[in-house]
Amino acid sequence: MANNQSSTILIVDDTPANLLLLTQLLQGQSYDVRPVTRGAMALTTARSVRPDLILLDIRMPDVDGYTICQELKADPATSHIPVIFISALDDTEDKVRAFEVGGVDYVTKPFQPAEVLARVRTHLALAQARAALEMANRELQRALAREAELARIDWLTGVYNRSHFYELATHEFAIATRYNRPLTICMIDVDHFKQINDQYGHLIGDQVLRHVAQVLAHQIRAADCIGRFGGEEFILLLPNTDVTAGMLLAERLRAAIAGLVINTEKGAIQTTISAGVAGRQPADTVIERLIDRADQALYAAKQQGRNCVAGV
Ligand code: GH3
Ligand code: MG
Ligand code: MG
Repeated sequence: MANNQSSTILIVDDTPANLLLLTQLLQGQSYDVRPVTRGAMALTTARSVRPDLILLDIRMPDVDGYTICQELKADPATSHIPVIFISALDDTEDKVRAFEVGGVDYVTKPFQPAEVLARVRTHLALAQARAALEMANRELQRALAREAELARIDWLTGVYNRSHFYELATHEFAIATRYNRPLTICMIDVDHFKQINDQYGHLIGDQVLRHVAQVLAHQIRAADCIGRFGGEEFILLLPNTDVTAGMLLAERLRAAIAGLVINTEKGAIQTTISAGVAGRQPADTVIERLIDRADQALYAAKQQGRNCVAGV
């Protein structure tokens, strides 16, 4: 076998002659062999060496092989290591017990060297295949989680996309309605954004949007959330926040953006935002009503000359 050298095999047998025979047999195949003669040694060696396979005698003076196997299987650090029992006990009962405690195979003594080698090779290959499968599965799970996260994020700005924002907002709206708690929506639109695109081009416009989104996202609390509603429009969901507190936050955001200088390869760009804030009212039956009113407030802010906050 090509990778014998990388496989470590722990042999546990209290009879020195058996131990020597097995050790020579496996070393002859270039396996890295760790022989031990006492049951108690088996566990400590298995934990420190982490062998790829264990050949385990059953009848030993200190601890019997069944008990050792059970302890190996109970420990997450060693539970994956295949255990082949190698014993003079030849009763069906003994063999069945060996499988019940977690053994993968059973060889009776006196053993045939070729048979021991064949079983060792088979179980090493199976263990390797299982490890590879587990690794591939872990990678797949990670990729799926990444994929699910990406599906919620607006690719340009990194804030939530509109559909995921709606999902969160609908959930928070139901909670706020059920417990009669305040909930505020804030709509934000970049002022005269078309001019930035016209003057500097779309790529620089994108850069400005990313910057604005980052500043907004950093200013809000962990319980709040921010989504990209459309082109240069962002939306905030503020749970447990009434319209007055929402307007204070919006004003803070407005000032932060107004004071921002965005350095781009085409020069330093400054911009402003307008914000419309609406608090949940008992008559609101769906989140869309609240969003609608925030949108109307935003329109009012634009009418008032932009770079300002309006609330309803
Ligand atoms: P107002 O102050 O009234 O909001 O004016 P405005 O120019 O910001 O609004 P308008 O709706 O006229 O223009 C918005 C522009 O935003 C037009 C559109 O091309 C641009 N836009 C939308 N999405 C993106 C984007 O993802 N990247 C870039 N660079 N531009 C975008
Ligand atoms: Mg705009
Ligand atoms: Mg707009």
